[in-house]
Amino acid sequence: MKAIIIGAGIGGLTTAIALQQQGIDYEIFDAAPACKAVGAGIMLGGNAMTVYERLGVGKAIRELAVFPENIFVRNYKGKVLQHISNAYIRDHYGQGAQLLHRATLQQLLVDEVAKEIQWGKKFTTLQQHANGVTAYFEDGSSASGDFLIGADGIRSVVRETYITPAQYRYSGQTCWRAIIPMTLSKEERENAVEVWGNGNGLRASYAQIDGGRVYFWFTSKMPAGKAFTDEEAIAFMQKQLAPFYGNMPKVAAALRPEMLIRADLYDIKPINTWYKDKVVLLGDAAHATTPNLGQGASQAIEDALMLSNCLAQTKSTAAAFKLYQESRIARVQKVVGVSWQLAMITNWKGSLAASFRDFMVRMVPNRVTQQQLEFLYNVKW
Ligand SMILES: Cc1cc2nc3c(=O)[nH]c(=O)nc-3n(C[C@H](O)[C@H](O)[C@H](O)COP(=O)(O)OP(=O)(O)OC[C@H]3O[C@@H](n4cnc5c(N)ncnc54)[C@H](O)[C@@H]3O)c2cc1C
Repeated sequence: MKAIIIGAGIGGLTTAIALQQQGIDYEIFDAAPACKAVGAGIMLGGNAMTVYERLGVGKAIRELAVFPENIFVRNYKGKVLQHISNAYIRDHYGQGAQLLHRATLQQLLVDEVAKEIQWGKKFTTLQQHANGVTAYFEDGSSASGDFLIGADGIRSVVRETYITPAQYRYSGQTCWRAIIPMTLSKEERENAVEVWGNGNGLRASYAQIDGGRVYFWFTSKMPAGKAFTDEEAIAFMQKQLAPFYGNMPKVAAALRPEMLIRADLYDIKPINTWYKDKVVLLGDAAHATTPNLGQGASQAIEDALMLSNCLAQTKSTAAAFKLYQESRIARVQKVVGVSWQLAMITNWKGSLAASFRDFMVRMVPNRVTQQQLEFLYNVKW
């Protein structure tokens, strides 16, 4: 059995590793001209780390990444709204969240992929025939296999052309991310924080990642595509963050235009079909989510292990795809839904609404939050 994987992002690379562990043949293609050290930071949830332990890359990630003992949500005056004990999650479920640079993770995964990753291969069309599939690329080349995995991200051509068109939803928020060379105090390294501003989607966070770097992100409610030069964006963020407690203004003062990566935050309205004939979707292509739970990549990573397990356990790709979708869809749609709701409540407008929101969030006991998050970590593979 041979898979054609379209997309060598976190989802596609993890799938390649999971397939090779099951002894399933594959070829993997990506439109990007080369493997480049791109992106900012990423938080891998304990659930993703459990998968990576299974796949034999957990230790390598843990050795490089930063493990925050706690993750706090605070208001801009510093008051704690929610506290998640990452140490508790690790102690109870085996693995906690890890923070690292995306490029570090990507390189680790690339090194684990036994086959040559075929960069500069933009998938365009597909032919399905009795014996399998043939994928065609923009450069005129093609590749054949028994089935095709669309791991080609939120704007998936595979999904749109061969499964079902999706509806993109703009969360109302744009996001700037940056990697800042900086070492935080022990206290701040151990206690990652997300700080909520006075409504209008205003939130910011900074946390230590690998290599003496800090991962900073900022969100604000505004129309998608609103024009900002990088210099204007920095001035805007520094102004918005000036009233924030603690070191946030100091971290914002270290921002430089060349550090900024901007993304308008979209998800896709959940779709109920992840496969058709010999084509199956995985990761953002199947279920792109807003990043409010920090679970998009983590869910793609879970998909990869589940799909490879299903392929190994069943007699046909049809049975494997069915089992894979049935095993994953409810869980993933819950993540997408909760994450979307979080975007909506942080979009509330004005300080009165924000104070009410903060009060409501603060009133939820930590024990309840921990239980609500339990579904993410309490996974039996
Ligand atoms: C601001 C922000 C912060 C986030 N933070 C987190 C976080 O902390 N934790 C977390 O778990 N998730 C996070 N996410 C979500 C996470 O980034 C995604 O869920 C994850 O990258 C999805 O991986 P993927 O492999 O499915 O898709 P992608 O990473 O989008 O990879 C798709 C790949 O397919 C390739 N491709 C696309 N089209 C074609 C084509 N036609 N032919 C060939 N190749 C193609 C692309 O080049 C790309 O390499 C965040 C997202 C955003 C926007």
